[in-house]
Amino acid sequence: MAEYLTAIGLETHAELSTDTKIFCNCKNRFGAPPNTNVCPVCMGLPGALPTINSTAVEYAVRMGHALNCKINLVSRFDRKNYLYPDLPKAYQISQSNVPICVDGWVDFWYNDQVRRVRIERIHMEEDAGKLIHSESSDIITYVDLNRCGVPLIEIVTKPDIRSPGEAAAYLKTIRSILTYLDICDCRMQEGSIRSDVNVSLNRPGEPLGVRCEMKNINSFSAVTRAAEYEIKRQQEILDAGGIIQQQTRRWDDVKGISSVMRTKENADDYRYFPEPDIPPVEISQRRCDELKKSVPELGNIKLIRYISEYCLNEKDAHYICDDPKLAAFFDECVQSGRYSPQVYSRRIMSELAKYLNANEKSFEDIRLDVKRFNELLGEVEKGNISNSAFKKAFEFMIENDDNVKTIINDLGLLQLTDESELERIAELVIKQNPKSVDDYKKGKTNALGYIMGQCMKCSKGKADPVRMKEIVLSHLAK
Ligand code: ADP
Ligand code: MG
Ligand code: ZN
Repeated sequence: MAEYLTAIGLETHAELSTDTKIFCNCKNRFGAPPNTNVCPVCMGLPGALPTINSTAVEYAVRMGHALNCKINLVSRFDRKNYLYPDLPKAYQISQSNVPICVDGWVDFWYNDQVRRVRIERIHMEEDAGKLIHSESSDIITYVDLNRCGVPLIEIVTKPDIRSPGEAAAYLKTIRSILTYLDICDCRMQEGSIRSDVNVSLNRPGEPLGVRCEMKNINSFSAVTRAAEYEIKRQQEILDAGGIIQQQTRRWDDVKGISSVMRTKENADDYRYFPEPDIPPVEISQRRCDELKKSVPELGNIKLIRYISEYCLNEKDAHYICDDPKLAAFFDECVQSGRYSPQVYSRRIMSELAKYLNANEKSFEDIRLDVKRFNELLGEVEKGNISNSAFKKAFEFMIENDDNVKTIINDLGLLQLTDESELERIAELVIKQNPKSVDDYKKGKTNALGYIMGQCMKCSKGKADPVRMKEIVLSHLAK
């Protein structure tokens, strides 16, 4: 069997979370009753005139900056002509020749290294409506036009992605960036992010092969499965001496197979021409620069930083970076300089993550500030409270605004360090458990665990365990 290299290119549509649609003032809202957020413009009635939503333009420019693109200060809309029942105008307003952003790249962590995928372009366009097939009849289909005119950006990569796993990692990065910019609600199950997946194979040293494209896949795992299937399909054809035909294929994720939709259309088939009703989209250099400054440090960059500079493990770094607010908190902790990044991440993973999971909360629902967090960590460090007391105090702290000293006092968490009291407990427990003492002296070391357990119980869990053990051992040695 021959060895092949895989090339994957993605065209990803993301719905922008603007208040209103891209060319009219209708609400941009998912889940409203059918055909209630519509007007002559988005229903495509003759004579209705579109006007561009400037917020959508600014969102697209911010995404362009986030993906290191060159921004076209003047971009243009075109008509992409095709007939389909979810598109009443029979053309989609899209950007073809002069898209708003071109020539960028995105870096992300995959397979223990930084990968870079080049971005060919980002263009703006309107979404189409939705077809709802009748459940009671095979020949009735309803059309809901609420989604017509929802603003989309389409992010097109170069064919730089080398495996299905890398395609999923790239898409997760795009989702993370959209979340950090707060320009898309990224609800995958509602189709906020949908990708066309292009796949080809070639032999090493030879040019890229002929590609097939699978349309409109809206989950990351389905993208992975579709690409895996397509690689295998093409491999079998090539191994048998066949040639790949350029096709658009439909991926059926339930059956796990794809089938031909059509042999590939060309741009010519769409008869693109400049949209006469919308003037060129202009943005000033000054506004473009301002928007660039408004882009925060993004999750993909933080992730690379946490792993390569702070040596966090990938899972922990992902957990922290996935939530922009949590990542900001973590950065603030590290900047305070009190403890190492690992100390913070370990506590976040062991205490915070567990709490949030168990209570089905997210970071923004709780009260945690760096000052109190550092103070509480300090109490453990000084030996004033035990690790288990830390957990209790921590959970109390994120639900209340009390200061750390008050919490520790009120919950009675102070560690028992008084020597004479520890001595008294050791003596008492040893006296009451002669059998365990005997076992220990005969070499059964796990008897010590039992004795220590009794001591901790006797102190109501407050004894300083290290000192307690030393004292118990000194008594047992007698
Ligand atoms: P179209 O718009 O007609 O689908 P494009 O040339 O714009 O075609 O490419 C669309 C996508 O296909 C891009 O993401 C690109 O990276 C990808 N692509 C192009 N050539 C190949 C190839 N040989 N193998 C895999 N993907 C490819
Ligand atoms: Mg395409
Ligand atoms: Zn409308």
